[in-house]
Amino acid sequence: MTSLYSINYHTRAHKRDAFIEFIKSLLLTPFVLHTRPSTASEEYGASGSKLGDKRTANKEVEKDANVERYCEILQCVEELIADHMAHQEQDLLELSRLSTLVPSIGRFFTALPLKEGFMRQDAKRSIAARRFVPPSFNDIRALLNDAQVTAIGPTIKLITFDGDMTLYADGADFARDSQLVKLIVHLLRHGLYVAIVTAAGYPGDAPKYEKRLSGLLDGFRASNLPGEALEKFYVLGGECNYLFRYESVSGHLRYIHPSAYQPSSVQAWANNATKVAELLDVAQETLLQCAREMGLEHSVTLIRKDRAIGVIHNDGSHLTRETLDEFALAAQRRLNNHQRAQLIRAGEEPIPFCAFNGGSDVWVDIGNKLIGVQMLQGFLGTKGDETLHVGDQFLSTGNDISTRTACCTVWITSPEETADVLTDLCQLLDQKKA
Ligand SMILES: [Mg+2]
Repeated sequence: MTSLYSINYHTRAHKRDAFIEFIKSLLLTPFVLHTRPSTASEEYGASGSKLGDKRTANKEVEKDANVERYCEILQCVEELIADHMAHQEQDLLELSRLSTLVPSIGRFFTALPLKEGFMRQDAKRSIAARRFVPPSFNDIRALLNDAQVTAIGPTIKLITFDGDMTLYADGADFARDSQLVKLIVHLLRHGLYVAIVTAAGYPGDAPKYEKRLSGLLDGFRASNLPGEALEKFYVLGGECNYLFRYESVSGHLRYIHPSAYQPSSVQAWANNATKVAELLDVAQETLLQCAREMGLEHSVTLIRKDRAIGVIHNDGSHLTRETLDEFALAAQRRLNNHQRAQLIRAGEEPIPFCAFNGGSDVWVDIGNKLIGVQMLQGFLGTKGDETLHVGDQFLSTGNDISTRTACCTVWITSPEETADVLTDLCQLLDQKKA
């Protein structure tokens, strides 16, 4: 019989990250059992300086004890990750203890210094001192980001960024006065490859990408960086379909022909226009049906491109997160079933796609960011523990989540958070150089 717990889990799984929920649940035990309830005298305002001093001292001791308890748990999680990585090396990933506890867990490319990260995040977020609010999703997300940046600092060679909500607001252009301009220039100064891997798909159209990235490119032109460093900047559009490189002499983006970087496994489907069009037909039918079923056919417009199909809201209407998730999940399910039934039965390889909630719209793109990051890694010669992807869409209805299979990741929710992460990374790179 299906339990209510299981039903709740499966109907909410697309809004949850299993590993973050796992850590959150572990930290909840000390929060519940050891956080001291306030005494009657504290609650009702009994005074007395000596008593007051004692209470303050007790609170400090209590906070230290909480830090210790949280750190003890995080030490255990570090050990679980180390054990998982040992299994991973022997291709026995699914046999690790962490796989048993979190069945959907993927690969790790570096160890994660969570205890060390907790001390820094606790100083910023007062996690151990809190008595009414337990460690939250955002606390754990910040902790994992901190540990990941610290771990990859010594080895990083390539950093890839999502566009919307990671570098600029949804649909906006890269602002000239964004603090991210300086930070990205600093990463290039340290000799890193920097790439923007975005869903935005403008086939071979450099001026359109240049417009979206105008503030950053202005920053490049105004910088005193040598051409060699600036030419380590790439833009990969349409998830993995259109690659450009910054050319320092002209100050513009130059299109790179796919034959220069696409492996034969990608060329096999990328050049099959008929199969791509067929898959987009199925996606179109699914999205239209979904719009009809939700009574939204007059509130949305369908946009079809060479390698993508999307639903955007009409002027004056708005799509809720729930309706966007419904579109994305319906398309994922239908296209997976379609490919399984049609192509795999015929012995053909399925065409990779990505159906995702883009924040205010929903898209089905041919290809995905996993292929995008893997191609860049092949092209630039970097490995998983040398590559970091920064993005905001890591739920199962997002388009950044697939990169977790290829590299280290950082999950941010705004360009401001991206700036915080890059500030920490730049500090580590400066220290390494010093
Ligand atoms: Mg985004």
